[in-house]
Amino acid sequence: MAASSKSDVELGFAEKTHGWRLNSKYFPCKFGGKPSWLHLKNLPLPESLQCSCCKNPYTFLLQIYAPINELKTCFHRTVFVFCCRSAECYKPNSNLPFAAFRSQLPRKNDYYSYHPPTESEDSKPVNPVDFEQRMCEVCGCLGPKRCGKCHETNYCSRNHQMIDWKEGHKFSCGKDEGRTPEYKNVLFPEYEVVIETEELNTAEETDKSEEDKMRDYSEFMKSEQGKSMLRNEDMTQEDLEKMALHEEDVQFKKFRERINHEPEQILRYDRGGEPLWISSKHIPKSNDIPLCQCGAPRIFEFQILPQLLNYLHVDSLGASIDWGTLAIYTCSKNCDTGPVYHPEFVWKQECGDTPKIKTEDTVSQ
Ligand SMILES: [Zn+2]
Ligand SMILES: [Zn+2]
Ligand SMILES: [Zn+2]
Ligand SMILES: [Zn+2]
Repeated sequence: MAASSKSDVELGFAEKTHGWRLNSKYFPCKFGGKPSWLHLKNLPLPESLQCSCCKNPYTFLLQIYAPINELKTCFHRTVFVFCCRSAECYKPNSNLPFAAFRSQLPRKNDYYSYHPPTESEDSKPVNPVDFEQRMCEVCGCLGPKRCGKCHETNYCSRNHQMIDWKEGHKFSCGKDEGRTPEYKNVLFPEYEVVIETEELNTAEETDKSEEDKMRDYSEFMKSEQGKSMLRNEDMTQEDLEKMALHEEDVQFKKFRERINHEPEQILRYDRGGEPLWISSKHIPKSNDIPLCQCGAPRIFEFQILPQLLNYLHVDSLGASIDWGTLAIYTCSKNCDTGPVYHPEFVWKQECGDTPKIKTEDTVSQ
């Protein structure tokens, strides 16, 4: 039977598109390139966009436009994720090289029209510079520092100033010539993220019952009866380890089977739901997720899958940027106090001992 059913999860897929369509005024979901800021003032300060490991500036990873219909303050709402570009900062089970921010706006606001804009290549883009913000030439984040020679080009940090100098600013400094370096060693390739509802075919039903059986079995082994059975049969440490390994496989199998319905997915969105963990190791307990600055608990909002890595061209860096999954947790109350870009929380889970997932066709550019 080829019946299918819709799930509550929205999936994200990478799609090449024209750069102009990813401007802030169209409220895009996207990854790579420079961020398309929602609030165009009061952007995150360079200090808050510094890797907690190596102190270098983060690179923009991805943003998801996710308004909350019931909340007037969240008529527009975008969650931004940043990560470090150095592979050395990716340590097992460490959430350090990531940052996330939530930005939201009511329908009536200082930046965008009340009605959706007509999409056209010729219409004027909207950027923080229109609101007197100085933006870093390299990364597109706030750039309070200025080139000391021309006093015209802005940077978030000395690090990015040095990168730009080498990328050609040493020739163009003070001259009035158009230059559009791509900063390929800083920015990730830019794609739109297209969102579709997940559809599950009935094949999953059989998998589920198999999983249930496995769960029953492991529950039983933990019970008094199961434990005494273990004692009687004189299970060795090795046997127990094998069993644990098998449980690990079950989580990975569950992950793989769910993903296989749509193998190209790079993101799963299910605010208030549960992440699809890739392994049974390093799953956060509720007190591992810090409370929001407002005091409210954070809830799961979306997860980034390892498939995204295929698009980022990071493998060539030797020891590479890597994750099994990144789960993004945001304020359950969508608070509107404190900084305009509200810091949120990223949890990284490794692939575990299981092989890395790659989609069939590797993306070429
Ligand atoms: Zn770092
Ligand atoms: Zn910068
Ligand atoms: Zn200059
Ligand atoms: Zn909050």
